Amino acid sequence: MVKICCIGAGYVGGPTMAVIALKCPDIEVVVVDISKPRIEAWNSDTLPIYEPGLDDVVKQCRGKNLFFSTDVEKHVAEADIIFVSVNTPTKTRGLGAGKAADLTYWESAARMIADVSKSDKIVVEKSTVPVKTAEAIEKILTHNSKGINYQILSNPEFLAEGTAIEDLFKPDRVLIGGRETPEGRKAVQALKDVYAHWVPEDRILTTNLWSAELSKLAANAFLAQRISSVNAISALCEATGANVSEVAYAVGKDTRIGPKFLNASVGFGGSCFQKDTGDTRETPAIDVCKGLLGDKAQISIYDPQVTEDQIQRDLAMNKFDWDHPMHLQPTSPTAVKQVSCVWDAYEATKGAHGLCILTEWDEFKTLDYQKIFDNMQKPAFVFDGRNIIDPEKLREIGFIVYSIGKPLDA
Ligand code: NAD
Repeated sequence: MVKICCIGAGYVGGPTMAVIALKCPDIEVVVVDISKPRIEAWNSDTLPIYEPGLDDVVKQCRGKNLFFSTDVEKHVAEADIIFVSVNTPTKTRGLGAGKAADLTYWESAARMIADVSKSDKIVVEKSTVPVKTAEAIEKILTHNSKGINYQILSNPEFLAEGTAIEDLFKPDRVLIGGRETPEGRKAVQALKDVYAHWVPEDRILTTNLWSAELSKLAANAFLAQRISSVNAISALCEATGANVSEVAYAVGKDTRIGPKFLNASVGFGGSCFQKDTGDTRETPAIDVCKGLLGDKAQISIYDPQVTEDQIQRDLAMNKFDWDHPMHLQPTSPTAVKQVSCVWDAYEATKGAHGLCILTEWDEFKTLDYQKIFDNMQKPAFVFDGRNIIDPEKLREIGFIVYSIGKPLDA
């Protein structure tokens, strides 16, 4: 039986390995992490991350061919294929701060693999890394190899938080980059065989190592560029009286451009492509809150998937402190006092002067806005930063509405 070990039980490692385990009953998959609370959560009924469909996938294979463990070294030593899906945040200090990726976690994972391995390994880059990282990792491994053969592959992940399981079940493409040597091709084939359990052959692309690494960065850049462009257009819409939804629809009808990723919003956030929600790292919602706090607002927050600790942590920091990953870090003593978190949208809006919609949860689309209006102070303002509510309906109720990129109330 092929054994896979994945280092890093996060937003990528957890769901990706759960889907591999589900689709490949002939493969044993162990996800390891240095974070005890995270692994305990993966082994409990309350998984550490929220993704639609994830609970079901994990329940079907956990304890059969899917395992979560903190015994990192044991499972790395036993594996044939090692995925490395550790965090690669933007550096917060030193050379390249704010621009370059911090590869500290990757380097320590590579050194640990070299220390504990006793048999040949295929090491798969799952994390998003700068081009040529595979070469650096290869050097660490081969210079400490003790005669072991290591093949490094790049297999970047393209899933989006919120649709991770759907994306993994039906990927647009799976990209595998490897060395163009007989051993490299053999390693690429071994990983192809894993994905071939459920991904059609024409969707599994194989390239050289550097093309795979660069493709991931280029795809992120293109997507960020589209969102940034439509957000810039939404500012023009507000200045001119145009409606960004109409403009985006008209532009997206051009088959050379296409309709996806053309929704204007308050901006993208998240740790990786900065686009995600249950994951509050670097979300623009935090920036909006900080702006409001600067104006001495009292803020009551409701998000179905985010805890008060997460929000207080992010508010208390200028940027996420990657030297102290979120699951290891206690709530900051400087937590902002003007903010409270409640577990109900109606409770959050009771007595408020204004309502800001900053994430795209489906439940926000179907709230009883009449009830919300009745319980707010008047005049009652709505700022729809995601364009998910029909502004006309809100105006009929009596709200003063500001929908991003749309004509303002008279
Ligand atoms: P994450 O922070 O949720 O998880 C990373 C995990 O790695 C953490 O639980 C951490 O404790 C663990 N870890 C760090 N060093 C370790 C070590 N030496 N041994 C064992 N465990 C260790 O990160 P994520 O969101 O899953 O992202 C992982 C990588 O995938 C990043 O490079 C990210 O840029 C990339 N990526 C993320 C997304 C996304 O949507 N989150 C999508 C595509 C790619």
